[in-house]
Amino acid sequence: MENKQHIIDRFISYVTVDTESDPNSDTTPSTKKQWDLANKLVEELKQIGLTEVTIDENAYIMATLPSNVDFEVPTIGFVSHFDTSPDFSGANVKPQLVENYDGGDIVLNEEQNIILSPSYFDDLLQYKGQTLITTDGTTLLGADDKAGICEIVSAMEYLVQHPEIKHGKIRIGFTPDEEIGRGAHKFDVEKFAADWAYTMDGSQIGELEYENFNAAGVKLIFKGKSVHPGYAKGKMINSMLLANKFISKLPSKEVPEKTTGYEGFFHLHDISGSIEETEVQLIIRDHSMKKFKKRKKLIRKLVSKINKKYAAKFGDKIVECEIKDQYYNMKEKVEPVMHIVDIAEQAMKELDIKPIIKPIRGGTDGSQLSYMGLPCPNIFAGGHNFHGKYEYVPVESILKATEVIVKIAEITANRNK
Ligand SMILES: [Zn+2]
Repeated sequence: MENKQHIIDRFISYVTVDTESDPNSDTTPSTKKQWDLANKLVEELKQIGLTEVTIDENAYIMATLPSNVDFEVPTIGFVSHFDTSPDFSGANVKPQLVENYDGGDIVLNEEQNIILSPSYFDDLLQYKGQTLITTDGTTLLGADDKAGICEIVSAMEYLVQHPEIKHGKIRIGFTPDEEIGRGAHKFDVEKFAADWAYTMDGSQIGELEYENFNAAGVKLIFKGKSVHPGYAKGKMINSMLLANKFISKLPSKEVPEKTTGYEGFFHLHDISGSIEETEVQLIIRDHSMKKFKKRKKLIRKLVSKINKKYAAKFGDKIVECEIKDQYYNMKEKVEPVMHIVDIAEQAMKELDIKPIIKPIRGGTDGSQLSYMGLPCPNIFAGGHNFHGKYEYVPVESILKATEVIVKIAEITANRNK
């Protein structure tokens, strides 16, 4: 495989460019600084010898590694995002290298006493003896998802340099703004023109995901009637208490902090109000489409019940409800083409990586892309503790993910010989 130091240097050259995205911006990319890395990537892709290297007005990058066989092979794609999460600062990232990790505490920042400890983050222990890249405790690292970018670029470079490895046409796509939920929004699936793709955006080595939540956002507005408290009997309607009553009717055990695996939930994430008006925001998540629909139905049922109850007294609808679907479980789109998961699984097994296939308790760009016509499971990129100062990535995982990409290309060609 590729030279380890070369890959470390490449990864560091990406994470030291600040690409934090901004949910409050309406432009694409949401922050100008994302162009800094995007432009740099375009140059690098040209330089390693890819063709059809393009960047559009929204900073979506695409490139091609042409087929090197004379038979038909499906076109496969690999996708990553170059923005980092606005949850934590991504400016002035100072990556630190921990070589031959000994399984003990890692002091990220002596001055501020910030320690990355396996007693809290026990995943660390599986990387004993490996080279870890960590933060200096003051920023996130950005392995999410610059590890993914590094792996795709490195795999393409490797394939260019090793023409003896046979593969079909490979397309790569790098997007801005994934962290604010817009990575797939302006992704031109038609232009990408792949039969299927993989996002390299999972966490620990071995992860392979093709199931995610169905997701909806709910906004409820409770109205009230403010009257002087001394004369309020039979007249005042306190919208905050109404909202409180509504929330108490939701199943109390179906919340994020009490669910795991395939268990769905209602998650109340915002309330603000006064006597006259209270706004409540929640999200609904469920892997099962049937249960997802049932959850939305429950909300509507509770709303209409309250509205009926207060119809005479309030005169108007006392609660307004808006439910917006956000994304759907990609399983529905991937299952009919299950071989695309099998190929990734086989690639891992051939490289002695134990596949960890589990449902995502969230969404990925791949779920949206799958519904846009590009079935797109998610593969590990190698990092841990995303979106914060404890983020780290083992270099060995980056190398393995790079090998997985090469192997997938090889297997896909072999199956079509
Ligand atoms: Zn990511």
